[in-house]
Amino acid sequence: MLYINGEWRETENKLDVINPATGKVIRNVATGGKVETKEAIESAREAFRSWGKTTGNVRSNYLSKTVQLMKEKSEELAETITLENGKPLPDATREVAGAIAFLEWYAEEAKRIYGDTIPASDPDKHLMVLREPVGVCAAITPWNFPLSMITRKIAPALAAGCTVVLKPADVTPLSAIKVFECFHEAGLPAGVANLVIGPAEEIGNEMTSNPDVRKITFTGSTRVGKQLIRDSADTVKKISMELGGHAPYIVFEDADIEAAVDGVLTSKFVNAGQTCISTNRIYVEETVAEEFSAKLAEKVSRLVVGNGLKNGVNVGPLINKAALEKVENHVENAVKQGGKLISGGNVFTHKNDSGYFFEPTVIQYANDQMQITTEETFGPVAPIYTFKTEAEVVERANHAEYGLAAYCYTKDLSRGLRMMRALEYGIVGINDPAPAVVQAPFGGVKESGMGKEGGKYGLEDYLEEKYVSINMK
Ligand code: ADP
Repeated sequence: MLYINGEWRETENKLDVINPATGKVIRNVATGGKVETKEAIESAREAFRSWGKTTGNVRSNYLSKTVQLMKEKSEELAETITLENGKPLPDATREVAGAIAFLEWYAEEAKRIYGDTIPASDPDKHLMVLREPVGVCAAITPWNFPLSMITRKIAPALAAGCTVVLKPADVTPLSAIKVFECFHEAGLPAGVANLVIGPAEEIGNEMTSNPDVRKITFTGSTRVGKQLIRDSADTVKKISMELGGHAPYIVFEDADIEAAVDGVLTSKFVNAGQTCISTNRIYVEETVAEEFSAKLAEKVSRLVVGNGLKNGVNVGPLINKAALEKVENHVENAVKQGGKLISGGNVFTHKNDSGYFFEPTVIQYANDQMQITTEETFGPVAPIYTFKTEAEVVERANHAEYGLAAYCYTKDLSRGLRMMRALEYGIVGINDPAPAVVQAPFGGVKESGMGKEGGKYGLEDYLEEKYVSINMK
C-alpha cells in the first residue's frame, strides 16, 4: 500500500510480509518503485508550498491529533510490531509509547522555533536570523523499531514545516501503514506525508538523485548509509545518518555487580540484541570477571525465548534467516578462537514455531581475534573480555570505526567522569543501560553517523538558518 498525495494506492506488485516467529506470511502489500517515488516527491514539493508557511500552532494541532489516534490504537499498533518484527509484546508496547512520545514532543516544539536578532556593527543595520524548514525530506527507516524510527523522523520534520516521503524497511511495512492511517485520519493535508513501500535501491536512487529532495534522513547499516551519502553528493542534500554501532560495556571492580549484570539483560537482550545501541563487547575488570560471568550466565539462561505474542517471553526471534546465520557464524568463530560458551550458543528450535530463534548466549574469555570484537552481531550474544587497568580498557573500548553508544559501570564518581570524557561515543550511559529518551540527542560519531534525533537537537536537522541584513538608511 502506498500513500501519495493524501490517497491510498494499490499496485500490481506485491510484497509478502513474514512473521519472523513462524516464518509464515502475515499479509501482502502493494509496492511502488521509481515512478511512484517521483510522484510522492512531487506531491511533497507541492504540499511544502503551503505547509512550510503554516504556523507552529497549526502543525502542532495535526501532530497532537495523530497522538490521540495512536493512543487509541496502542494495542493494535503493538500487536502489529510483534507480528512483523518478532519482539515480545511488552517491548512492542514500550515502542508504541516511545513512538507517540516523539509526536507529542515535537507537537510542543513546533510552537517554539525561534530566530535571532544579532547586534549589528553598523548602527543603520538590523541583522536577523530566520529559521526556516529545509523543504522536502526523504526518510528511510529500519525494521528493528518499525514504528518509533518513523515518528522520530517524521515528527520533527513536520514540526519544522518540512514535508516527507517515507520508505520503511520492506520487511516491516505494516507498522508504517498504521502510522499513515493515523495521519490520514488526523486530516493531515494531502502531500505533507507520503509513504512508498518497495524495492530499496530503486526508491533510494530516486530519493538521492531527485533535486526536489532537500534532505535525506536514514537509520540503518553503515554500508547503505555511505552509499546514500555518496549518491546525495550531486544534489548537495542535507544529511542525517544513524548508522551502525559497536557498544562497549565496561564493568569496573568498584561497580554494583548485580546492577551491571541486570544492565546487560536490558542492553544486550532486549529486541534480541537487534538495536544499534545494543552492547557488543563486555569488558570486565579481571578481579571480578569470574563472579560477573557466572551471575550473567545464570540470569541469561533463565530468559524465555519464543513467539513474542506469548505471555512471559523475554527474547523473540531474529528478523530473518540471514540474521540468524550471521549470529551463528559469529558464535562459531568465537568458539574457534578460544571463547567458552557459558550460556546458550545454538539456534533455538521451537516445537510449535519454525521462526528464526537463537538462544541467548554468553561467551567467556572473548579476545580481540574474534569477528564479534569488531563486527556488529545484531543478535543475542554477549562476549565477555577482561582488562587490568582503566587506561587499557579505554584504549580497547574506543572503536576504530564505530562511535554510537558506550556504557560504563562504576561507583567512583571521578572515574565515571573520566570515562565520560574518554569514551569516543555519541551516547554514554554511566550506570545506565537504557539512556535513550525522547528529550535527549540520539546519534553517533565516526562512521556511526551524523546529526542528532530527539529533543531540541532533533529539530535543528530539519531547519536552515536564513541570515538577513537590513540597511535602514
Ligand atoms: P539492515 O542491515 O539493518 O537491514 P539496511 O541498511 O539494509 O539495514 O536497511 C535499513 C533501511 O535501508 C531499510 O529501509 C532498507 O530497505 C533500506 N535500504 C537498503 N538498501 C538500500 C539502498 N541501496 N538504498 C536505499 N535504501 C536502502
